[in-house]
Formats: sequence, C-alpha cells, structure tokens
Amino acid sequence: MPIPIRMCIQCKSRVAQNSLIRLQSQDYSRIVFYRGYGRSFYLCKDCINHPKTAHSICKVCKIDKRLKDVIDENLKEIICHHKR
Ligand SMILES: [Zn+2]
Repeated sequence: MPIPIRMCIQCKSRVAQNSLIRLQSQDYSRIVFYRGYGRSFYLCKDCINHPKTAHSICKVCKIDKRLKDVIDENLKEIICHHKR
C-alpha cells in the first residue's frame, strides 16, 4: 500500500504522513498530540518552530486568536516531547 500523503497546515507542503507530526485541538483552547479520534491536523518538523504556526493553528482549528500564546506554549511542549 502506498504511504499516505498529508499536508502541513503551515507551509502547505505535501509529504509522507509518517514524517509529519499529527496534532489536534482540545476544547478549542489548546493543542495536544493526536489521540486517535476526532479531527486532527499535521505539521512538518520545520514548521513546528515557525513563528506563524500558532496563528495558522488558530485559523485551522477555529481557536480564538487571543489564545495564540497558549498555543505557542503547547507547541514548545510538543517540541520537547517529540525530541525524546
Ligand atoms: Zn511545514
């Protein structure tokens, strides 16, 4: 079976699903790793550090832009966990 191709919501590049980081929003207020159900979105490893990524996430997930700083913090946590 071919490897599924998915799009990074920040840079819009289409790459193999397994090289992307799959995340989802929780209660329209924070970002967590995908838990296996519900809507999700993808980020490539370069874009997880991109300064505009939190903004893009707010748009895609319909999160209030005033929560952008929270999303930025969540992204930092996600980067830490992902490196392990
Ligand atoms: Zn990207």
